[in-house]
Amino acid sequence: MRFVSTTGRSEEVSFFEAMRSGLAPDGGLYMPKEIPDLSSLFRDLPMDMDFKQIAFELSRPFLHGELEEHVIRSVSNDAFNFPLSLKRIVPGIHVLELFHGPTLAFKDFGARFMARLFSEKASKEGQKVTILVATSGDTGSAVANGFYNVEGVDVCILYPKGKVSPLQEKQMTTLGGNITAIEIDGVFDDCQRLVKKAFVDPELSRMMNLSSANSINIARLLPQSFYYVYAFNELKKTGITDLVFSVPSGNFGNLTGGLLAKIMGMHVKHFLAATNRNDVVPGFLRGDKFTPKPSIQTISNAMDVGDPSNFVRMQHLYNHSDEALRNDVKGYSYTDESTRETIRDVYERTGYLMCPHTAIGYRAAAEYRSSTSNRFESVVLATAHPVKFRDVIEPVINQSIEIPVQLEESLQSDKKSIPLSAEYNDFKALLLAGR
Ligand SMILES: *Cc1c(COP(=O)(O)O)cnc(C)c1O
Repeated sequence: MRFVSTTGRSEEVSFFEAMRSGLAPDGGLYMPKEIPDLSSLFRDLPMDMDFKQIAFELSRPFLHGELEEHVIRSVSNDAFNFPLSLKRIVPGIHVLELFHGPTLAFKDFGARFMARLFSEKASKEGQKVTILVATSGDTGSAVANGFYNVEGVDVCILYPKGKVSPLQEKQMTTLGGNITAIEIDGVFDDCQRLVKKAFVDPELSRMMNLSSANSINIARLLPQSFYYVYAFNELKKTGITDLVFSVPSGNFGNLTGGLLAKIMGMHVKHFLAATNRNDVVPGFLRGDKFTPKPSIQTISNAMDVGDPSNFVRMQHLYNHSDEALRNDVKGYSYTDESTRETIRDVYERTGYLMCPHTAIGYRAAAEYRSSTSNRFESVVLATAHPVKFRDVIEPVINQSIEIPVQLEESLQSDKKSIPLSAEYNDFKALLLAGR
């Protein structure tokens, strides 16, 4: 399949080219040139199809011509080697737990899938790829874990010293192997500046095969459509076919994955774009002009985005018809206060514990349900394990949360990271030495 830039001013490229460059040269984001029509696949999905098989079926049209079928199958099998879980919390509201991967957040889906595709690409070209990532926390840990032990790929993660949470730091720095964590004496912007400078350094490009793995990469977006189809198929077994998806959103990659599934032919009644006080998209959906704002800090901090990059992809999918987009997607935004109230209320009534992001999605689903007379069932995407946010949640429910084994292990391992100044020459020397 060919991929085009959302701004339409760049040449169309292959999947691998789009993956390797991340951003199109014109600054746009890559999207499939034509969205495949999979409505007959969705209609006839075998009831017993598991997530890996669904992932394979949905990857196929996008990777056709670039990877052989058996390779696509093994990529899907390796990438998604952890469970998903769909639970009914109250009548009409289900939760799709996407946090059973290695870093306990849904970003594992995108990161693990992309890592295996990079490995395939490296093996085809016979050249090692070095991925550079600047992170303020979550992306770094998902990418580090996704690429860990993946052949043909080295990863360098730059994070600002003392500015990521202890848990996030452990998740990035205890792996070793092909993952190098670099602790920059500076802030996140310094990390990002170093990475950007490395990408345009002609000497480095001559000597190394550098690439990025940031959240707008098409290879991370694509798998975020697979689990919508999984939930759709699971609920179909129980006779539920009129569905609404509620998606806790920040940069809107996750929601864009769902819209893609719908445009490929999956039957969905509505999507709920659920945000914290960073409500640029809900504002747009209510009828305002799309106006990016500086981000506001909240307790659902993975959604503190004031200028969501994937909004252009949403517009692209709807051929720039604001009306069509507003018909399919309803916006909701909540304060920290409401988020805490929802965590407490749902926990007290049902015993189900949610992270702050998931709680925002849940609240949107509940509000949607009480404001309409239709009886559509909602699926809330649960984006992170509550334990990752235990400092926020414990005071809300007045109880301590048990730490799962995966976390216990990384919390107990020793941190291995390279301290470095924020000077570009130091960073470059380190990259060249590690070649
Ligand atoms: C990244 C993230 C989100 C937001 O996802 P987007 O694709 O950026 O909208 C929500 N919840 C958690 C826990 C996340 O890590």
